[in-house]
Amino acid sequence: MSGVVLDAAWVREWIRRSAEVIASNRAQLSTLDRAVGDGDHGENMDRGFTAVLAKVEDAPLDATPADLLKLVATTLISTVGGASGPLFGTAYLKASGAVAGAVELDGDAVLAMLSAARDGIVLRGKADAGDKTMVDAWTPAVDAAAALPSGRDPIAVLRAAADAAEAGARATEPLVARKGRASYLGERAVGHRDPGASSSALLLRAAVDAAETG
Ligand code: ADP
Ligand code: MG
Repeated sequence: MSGVVLDAAWVREWIRRSAEVIASNRAQLSTLDRAVGDGDHGENMDRGFTAVLAKVEDAPLDATPADLLKLVATTLISTVGGASGPLFGTAYLKASGAVAGAVELDGDAVLAMLSAARDGIVLRGKADAGDKTMVDAWTPAVDAAAALPSGRDPIAVLRAAADAAEAGARATEPLVARKGRASYLGERAVGHRDPGASSSALLLRAAVDAAETG
């Protein structure tokens, strides 16, 4: 058993790093979305995480991980717009529900959180694996995290998830989209990476970085 646990300070650091990495990749995410959508994914996410950061900085000192994740959810839903706002909003809302009441998160709790987030995205957007959406980052992420032996170190869980999400995002390139705006393009979407899968991978990498150094 690993004794490592993550807490609300980690969630705060994850959110700070998420806002940072989304801001620094804003142009790149919109460039991806220009190829397969309407070119606003970077702006949408940056607007959302800028608002999230302000809210979280004002959150009570005793806010639990679930409280903070719920604040992320409600803020993203009200500020991101687009298809991705309600999808990420639902992800963080379900993640919050999965760790309700917990002060410290072990590996199993982190896995439950990621798994609930993925389930929320699937429930909301009805995309299957291979439809060229953010599900293609989240599903391999959860599968890789779940494949680790039990008694998982939460940082190892996050690292497995982030690595698989990055590979999953890259693997959207050859796909034809079956959900979202990119599905209107047919074969023309082939060769382009899905923007929501890419931002999802960035958010999961930010979770690792926050846990390793936060
Ligand atoms: P919009 O498409 O409304 O402009 P964004 O550009 O912010 O919204 O987000 C686009 C991303 O949303 C896509 O790259 C894809 O990952 C994700 N997406 C769209 N529809 C779905 C869906 N039904 N299920 C899962 N993800 C989806
Ligand atoms: Mg868009």
